[in-house]
Amino acid sequence: MKTRDRLRIAVQKSGRLADASQQLLAQCGFRFRQSRDKLFCFGETHAVDLLLVRDDDIPGLIAEGTCDLGFVGRNVLAEQRLAQVAEAGSSALCEVRALGFGGCRLAIAVPQEEPWVGPEQLQGRKIATSYPALLANYLRENRVQADIVVLSGSVEIAPKLGKAEVICDLVSSGATLAANQLKETAVILKSEAVLAAADLDFVDERAPVLDLLLRRLDGVMAVRETKLLLMQLARADLSEVKLALPKDAMASVLSSDEDRDELCLQAVVRSALDWAELERLKGAGARNLMVLPVERMLA
Ligand code: ATP
Ligand code: MG
Repeated sequence: MKTRDRLRIAVQKSGRLADASQQLLAQCGFRFRQSRDKLFCFGETHAVDLLLVRDDDIPGLIAEGTCDLGFVGRNVLAEQRLAQVAEAGSSALCEVRALGFGGCRLAIAVPQEEPWVGPEQLQGRKIATSYPALLANYLRENRVQADIVVLSGSVEIAPKLGKAEVICDLVSSGATLAANQLKETAVILKSEAVLAAADLDFVDERAPVLDLLLRRLDGVMAVRETKLLLMQLARADLSEVKLALPKDAMASVLSSDEDRDELCLQAVVRSALDWAELERLKGAGARNLMVLPVERMLA
C-alpha cells in the first residue's frame, strides 16, 4: 500500500450532495482553500484534502487508491461494489458511516393504472434503470427474469419513449414519478450519503487524521437531530407535562425561590420535534415553548 502523509477525500463537485458534504466537514472543524480550477481543496486546519469530482467517479477513485475516502450516495457505492464483484470476484469498497443526508430510495415504478401485486409481475418485462447491478440482484433474489435496459439518465421518461414499461430509479418526494404517470412500488435500496472507503489500515500519518475525522463525524452525527426544549409551567401541571414529553427526553426542572409554583423545564430531545408534539405539551399545561438547536454536547 502506498504511504501518504495527508488524507484525501473525494466529494461531489456539484449536485445534490455537494453542499451538505462540505458543510459536514466544516461542522467537524475542517477548513479548506480551494484551488483556482475548483477541483482540489487543500486542508488548512488538518492534513485532509478534498478532490471535487462527479459522484459516479468516487468509488473508482477509492478502489484505485487515488482517494482514501469519499462522500457518496449508498446507491452509487452499492452499484459499483456489485459491478466490481461481478467483474473481479471481490471488492474492497465498504461503507464506513451513514451520514444522514441525501436520503432517497431506489424503487421500482410501474404505470399508475397498473395494480402492483409483487415482483413476479416484472417477469419478462423491460425495466429501464441506471442501476443494473442492484436491479439484477433484486430480480435474482425474487427469482424473476426481466430485460434490463441501461440508461445513464432521465430514466423516468423511458416508458413515454417506449424504451421500457417499468423503471427502477431513485425517488425522494415522488413528484417526478407522478409527473410521468408512474407510481412507486417495491423499494430495492434505502439510500443516503455515506462515507465510503476501501482500506483503512493506514500505517502512515493518515491514521491519526482518520481517527480524528471519524471521532468528530460521530460527535456531529450524535447531536444532529438533538434539540433543547425550553418551557414554563405551573408546578401543578408538572406530571402531565412530563408524560407528554417524547420518550427519549432527558428533562430537568428549574424553579426560582421567588415563585415556587412557577417552573421552567428544559429537556434534551434526540429526535426532531414536530408541531403536534409541541401542541400536546401545550395541552398538558406548558407555556412559552422554545425549541433550540444543539451544536455540541460533551457528556
Ligand atoms: P454528478 O454530476 O456528480 O454525476 P448526479 O447528477 O449523478 O451528479 P445528483 O443528482 O447530484 O447526481 O445526485 C447525487 C446523489 O443524491 C444520488 O446518487 C443520491 O444518492 C442522492 N439523491 C437524493 N435524492 C435524490 C433524488 N430525488 N434523485 C436522485 N438522487 C437523489
Ligand atoms: Mg452522477
